[in-house]
Amino acid sequence: MTDIKICEICRKSVPQKDIDQGLAVERNGKWICAQCAAIGRKHKDPFHQDVLASLEKINEEVRSVYRIVSFKEANVWTVLGAVLQIFVVFGVAVSFSQISKLGIALWWMGLAVVLQVMALTFFTIGK
Ligand SMILES: [Zn+2]
Repeated sequence: MTDIKICEICRKSVPQKDIDQGLAVERNGKWICAQCAAIGRKHKDPFHQDVLASLEKINEEVRSVYRIVSFKEANVWTVLGAVLQIFVVFGVAVSFSQISKLGIALWWMGLAVVLQVMALTFFTIGK
């Protein structure tokens, strides 16, 4: 005797194997299929009509923010990006101070541009 579970969001039946694998989620007797749960996880709003779930979501959100913050503090890429950013400012400053010697100024400016690109890349990785 199979009791068919219907996804609360897309109204498709929830396959038993998704339930077995824990991909489909159950909340207050309502089922969310694997696809909708995945979308919900992405948008952090799988059970938007459920007040209790909303509170849980907020709690989860706060915890994930804490995770991101503590992760960022220890993030090597972000630190490297910040250090490079300082060198960029330095490079631009030297470039302007050497503006009378165009070759040197351009060399420093080029270096600053390269470092800036690296810094941005590290910030992106560190995100
Ligand atoms: Zn669904």
